[in-house]
Amino acid sequence: MPRSSLPLPAHHPWCAIIPPYVLEALSQSGDPEVERRARATLQHDEAMRADRRTDPSVRIGEPTLTAVEQHAAAPRSTEAPSRAIHDCATSRTLPGTLVRAEGEKPTKDAAANEAYDGLGDTWTLFKEAFDRNSLDDRGLAMVASVHYGTGYDNAFWNGSQMVFGDGDGEIFLGFTRSIDVIGHELAHGVTQYTAGLNYEGQSGALNESISDVFGSLVKQHAADQSAAAADWLIGADLLAPGVKGRALRDMHHPGTAYDDPRLGKDPQPAHMDDFVETTADNGGVHINSGIPNRAFVLAALELGGNAWESVGQVWYDVLTGDIKADCDFATFAALTIAAAKAVDAETHTAVSNAWQGVGVDPAKARTPRARKRPTRTGAPNKNAKVVVRRTGGLAGQVLQREVLLRELPTDDCEQWQALVATRALERASLEQTRTHPDAFTYEVDVPSRGVQVAIPEVGLSDDQRTLMDRTLLPPRE
Ligand SMILES: [Zn+2]
Repeated sequence: MPRSSLPLPAHHPWCAIIPPYVLEALSQSGDPEVERRARATLQHDEAMRADRRTDPSVRIGEPTLTAVEQHAAAPRSTEAPSRAIHDCATSRTLPGTLVRAEGEKPTKDAAANEAYDGLGDTWTLFKEAFDRNSLDDRGLAMVASVHYGTGYDNAFWNGSQMVFGDGDGEIFLGFTRSIDVIGHELAHGVTQYTAGLNYEGQSGALNESISDVFGSLVKQHAADQSAAAADWLIGADLLAPGVKGRALRDMHHPGTAYDDPRLGKDPQPAHMDDFVETTADNGGVHINSGIPNRAFVLAALELGGNAWESVGQVWYDVLTGDIKADCDFATFAALTIAAAKAVDAETHTAVSNAWQGVGVDPAKARTPRARKRPTRTGAPNKNAKVVVRRTGGLAGQVLQREVLLRELPTDDCEQWQALVATRALERASLEQTRTHPDAFTYEVDVPSRGVQVAIPEVGLSDDQRTLMDRTLLPPRE
């Protein structure tokens, strides 16, 4: 199979479970060993973030696939999980040595088994509750690596696989211990393949909240636990003995999860009145997620029963439906209220009350745009319509052209087909969420494929940008 025809997973900004502000607090905790490890994790995390921001966009026709991505992209015929757990043995080279493949017996390593089981429980929730076959709904293989680094205080999703550290042992224990943390990281993969919420500001906080919601639902579903019985905690098993706290986050009572001399105090707001304006942590994505988290819990408790059968369905419908990557809280509230209305009056009331309870006003939702059709994989045919728009720029000039692919020169037609088939545009729009002042923004709609993206020009490769410019302003005969 030519490399260019492999379905390329859309990339995602690097997402970690421990927010930078916690690591900052730890790096000044007064305990030299904790400080050293926290600083090492911070440095590593910053390097990873920078890496993902500067990662060059996929060149047309030659997507770069890592071994993990190639494994993950291989088509599956059956609807069953396909897991591969690797051991980094304290190195930072991914994915490490394969220690447990799908269907194999447990190993002697608790972390590998916890990861294997957590990946399975996540797959099962999405399959049984939402009829979704893995993160991409196409049976994507689930790859994880354990024992990443030495004393590494984090777990993250790197756009194609899960990575778990062992923790420093004094503040954090191993990151595979909490099933909701595993579900949280994998849910970043689901968001990546669906709504593609920008990992910054309010859309980033929604991205984080959705990971907490589905992470908690993985735990509740595996334990067959009702909303009333659930603890709504994220990472309760990660905190080492002696740490003053219950978990990393408390979805029901944001801001109360911990208050520890070394960790600091849980900074999450529970209400829009306390929304935190900050440039740190990608605009407070792990902080303000407390607000939509609490909205979800309030609705789930009002409806009772199993949350994955009630409000979980509403959130899932919105995540996989008519939602834009830059969705804000008010728009998300309006979307969930509309989806709840389609269920029944009781659900509608519960979801409306929940948003009111956290001070998010759905009336402030941005004007809904045309309904987004789900992205379909594969190349568009030559009769497909492409709409290219270039906005922004110092002069504020708007250029737009609507064209059928067959009307373009053959080379350009093929480049567009490859660009859509490899999902390079979605990838670029996810990676590059910052707009530079006066830079152009390119918008592309391919209605037949459900593609509707906006990408700052710095997020495009030279090939991609010149293709768009040629399409917008065809050379004169
Ligand atoms: Zn996250």
